[in-house]
Amino acid sequence: MESMYSNQVWDLVEPSTGLKPIGCRWIYKNKREVDGKVQTFKARLVAKGFTQKEGIDYEETFSPVAMLKSIRILLSIVAHYNYEIWKMDVKTTFLNGSLDECIYMNDLLMFAKGEIISMQLLQEKFKIFRKASGLIANQSKSAIYYGGVAEITTRISSWTAKKLSYAGRVQLVKSVLFGIQSYCAQLFIIPAKVMKAIEGYCRSYIWSGTNEITKKSLVAWSKICLPKTAGGLNLTNLRLWNKVAIIRTCWDLKNKKEILWIKWIHEYYIKSQTLESMTIPLQASWMVKKILKARENLGYVQPEDMKNKSMIRNIYLKMVGELPKVTWKNIMCNNEARPKARFITWLQQQNRLLTATRLEKWGIQVDSRCVMCKTVAETRDHLFVKCPIRRYIWQKIMQWIQITWRNLNTWNQMQHWIEQNTKGKSAKSRIVKMIYTEYVYAIWMERNKRIFEQKETIEDTVAREIAYICHVRASSTNKRMLQHCKFPR
Ligand SMILES: [Zn+2]
Repeated sequence: MESMYSNQVWDLVEPSTGLKPIGCRWIYKNKREVDGKVQTFKARLVAKGFTQKEGIDYEETFSPVAMLKSIRILLSIVAHYNYEIWKMDVKTTFLNGSLDECIYMNDLLMFAKGEIISMQLLQEKFKIFRKASGLIANQSKSAIYYGGVAEITTRISSWTAKKLSYAGRVQLVKSVLFGIQSYCAQLFIIPAKVMKAIEGYCRSYIWSGTNEITKKSLVAWSKICLPKTAGGLNLTNLRLWNKVAIIRTCWDLKNKKEILWIKWIHEYYIKSQTLESMTIPLQASWMVKKILKARENLGYVQPEDMKNKSMIRNIYLKMVGELPKVTWKNIMCNNEARPKARFITWLQQQNRLLTATRLEKWGIQVDSRCVMCKTVAETRDHLFVKCPIRRYIWQKIMQWIQITWRNLNTWNQMQHWIEQNTKGKSAKSRIVKMIYTEYVYAIWMERNKRIFEQKETIEDTVAREIAYICHVRASSTNKRMLQHCKFPR
């Protein structure tokens, strides 16, 4: 760095408009002694010159090392004329070449652990750099980025002001998890404690809409992370994802990928041993131990996985494995209903909707009678199957899509009919699942309206609204089918 400055190899400038600076990269090299021991670790910052264009950015190219042939010619000339030969070493030779062209390079990104000691060391280095170069880091142009829990809580906090449905919140949480999985988990190993905190914030936000960790949740987090066919919402299981990222790293280590730190681990810990059989060194850092321990799971990786771009996803799916499928999987997959309707149906299928009888079970004082017919206790089965009010609504819709409906009086009978008629990819099955989902949502919302707002919508209007929404949301083929359906008077 010092010689870079004394040779005045660069100036720090604002790029003029329309200019695309080229990137840079650290090149690390180990200088070894005769016995193979590392003598010095060398680091050199280079510009990615290969992105330049001939005739625009440069005219001629030079080789940084002499060709062996040239040396031989020189030696033969020396021998022929009986000259004397001297050997010398120019330090940082590459800095002594002069360039006629202007080359713009991006500035540096530095990574450090988010702890005091690492930050102090980074500061120290900046100070040395300042002493050597006289250049002072411009604070207004420098920025620090943090990855981790703090970032997630601020993002969640910015959403708490919005009034969103469960489904809307699930969507936002999905985007957060996706961000972490695609960025952090591939580069860093996230400690279990951090992961637990992230999950806690995401879970609390979904169920309570707050940015504080709460206990309240209607379905366990582990269940939400299951694939849709296994009864989940297919959210990323961060812990598993992170585990896979570590396995991937371990795989790189096993295959001696050309990366500085991998070379370093081989040099210091593995040496002549094999990764699979070596004893894990006690003095190794927490992270190194974690990577080494992941060798137990290398069996999940096949060489062909590694060529694939979505390798982490593939290994992840392999580790999720074959899970028992729920009988109602067809209702949840390829459903054209609105996300908020799908979410309520998802809860309904697991009997997790907070009906009066469930609240009573928790010891909460409520009027447990069905708010629609006001006769019997409000259970899921009553609300969606037995209640005469809802029966009327369902019959109207069945009439609308021209399905002859014979009355089914138990939850199991109704459920069986739904599961049977949502199988396959036919237009009919898709229409049935969308209609059923919107129906469940409409019944639940009508029930809530009657309880919390003391207002009610007449049954005909509820049925008509379901038909209207389904008509709007249906895909083009299904829409054509629904066009022939006349809503019954
Ligand atoms: Zn009822």
